Amino acid sequence: MLTRKRAESLITGTVIFLILIVIGKGLRPDIENIDAETQHRFREVAVASVNAERKAQGIEKKVVTDYALQQWLDGQPDSLINDPEGLSPDHFLKRLPNKKLTLSQASMCCISAESPGSLATQLDLWKEAFKASTNVVAIRLYRHSRNKIGCILIAAKKVPKFDLSLFNNGQREFYVTCKKCQVSHLGKLEKCDLAIAVKCSQCNHSYDLIAADIVGNYHRATHYLQGYGPPNEIGATAKTRIQEIYAMWSEVVQRCRYSKDLSESGGRKDSWQVPPDTYSLRNGDCEDTALLLADWLIARGFNARVVIGEANGKGEHAWCVAKLNGKQYLLETTLEKIPARLPETQQASAHYRPRYAFDRHSIYFIKKSAITTSDYFSSQTWEGYTYPLPASSSVASIALHSPKNSAISRTP
Ligand SMILES: [Zn+2]
Repeated sequence: MLTRKRAESLITGTVIFLILIVIGKGLRPDIENIDAETQHRFREVAVASVNAERKAQGIEKKVVTDYALQQWLDGQPDSLINDPEGLSPDHFLKRLPNKKLTLSQASMCCISAESPGSLATQLDLWKEAFKASTNVVAIRLYRHSRNKIGCILIAAKKVPKFDLSLFNNGQREFYVTCKKCQVSHLGKLEKCDLAIAVKCSQCNHSYDLIAADIVGNYHRATHYLQGYGPPNEIGATAKTRIQEIYAMWSEVVQRCRYSKDLSESGGRKDSWQVPPDTYSLRNGDCEDTALLLADWLIARGFNARVVIGEANGKGEHAWCVAKLNGKQYLLETTLEKIPARLPETQQASAHYRPRYAFDRHSIYFIKKSAITTSDYFSSQTWEGYTYPLPASSSVASIALHSPKNSAISRTP
C-alpha cells in the first residue's frame, strides 16, 4: 500500500521531472504563437503522412485539405475549442454544416503534445478517424495548455453535386437540390430497366430522369427529343389533325422493326437511340420508337409525350401519348398492326401503369404510382419539372459516327 508520504514524494518527483523537461527544452515559441505559417506547415506534413499510411494499407485514394471545411474549422471560436465538452466529437461535429459542405460522413480526433514535432509522431493515433472513403481533411492547431499544443483533425467524405459528366465517370454518390422541396440532400437513384430516376431522400419525390445512349453515356431523358422530323411529307396533306397523327403513327409502326438492344446481351439494361437513328436504321425497341414518334409529333406542333412504366404485366415499357382538342390518345409503337382508329386513353390504358413521362422541356412524375390512368397531361395526376435544353446535343448517335466507328451500331 502506498503511504501518504511515499505518494507525496512520487508526486513531487513527477512535478520536478516535468519542470526539468520544460526548463530543458526551454519556452517554445510555436506554443506561444501558432501562426498561419505553422498551421500550414503542420497540415502539409500531416496530410503527407496520412497519405503515406493509406498507401501502405493499399488505399490509393489520397486525402486533401478541403478549403471550405478548413475555413469552417478555423472559424470555430477559441472558447469552444478550449472547453473539453465543446470539443467532444458528438458536440463538435453536430455543428458541422454537412449540407453546405456536401459531406456524407465526418469523424474527428483530438490529440495534444509538447510541440508540433511530437504531434507529428503521434499521427498513428488518427487512424481511427479515417475510413477508406475519406477524401478530405481539415486540421487546426491550438494552444491546449501552457505547455501543450493541441490538434483537431476532421476526416470527412465530400460528395460532389449531381453532374452528368461525373455520373458518366462512375461517380454514384451525389448531393442534389430537390426540385420539389428545394432541400439539399444526398441523392437517391431509383433504377428501372429503361432509365434511372433521381429521387429526394427528404420528400421521397422523383424529380429527374436519366438514360444511357448507345455508347453507355447518360443524358437527361428530355435530351433525346431533339425536334427531329423525318424528311417526308407523311401526314402533311391529311385533311384533319387526327388523320395527320394517325398517318405518322402508322408510318413509325410500319417502318420500324422491333429489335432488342444489343447492349442488353452485354449486361447493360438498356440504351436509348436518338430519333434520326431509329428512322434511318428502321429498327429499335419500345423507347426508341416512342421517342421517334413523340419527337416527330412535337416537331409538327402536337402536344405529345414519351411515357415509361409497366405494361401488360410484362415489366418496363415505353409508349407515346398525344393530346388534341381535349382528347388524349395512347400510341403504342411496338404493334404488328395498328387499329383502324386512334385509341383514346380511356379505352386503351387499362393495361398500362405509367410512372414517368417527358417532352422536350419537362419531365413528369406520376403522383400516385402503380395506377392505371387515362390522364397523361394534367397537373392533378402529374408533377412536372422543366429543364433547360442542352446547348448542343451530346447524345451519341450512329448517324454521327463514321463507318470506322460502326462497331457501336446496333444493326444486326
Ligand atoms: Zn425533396
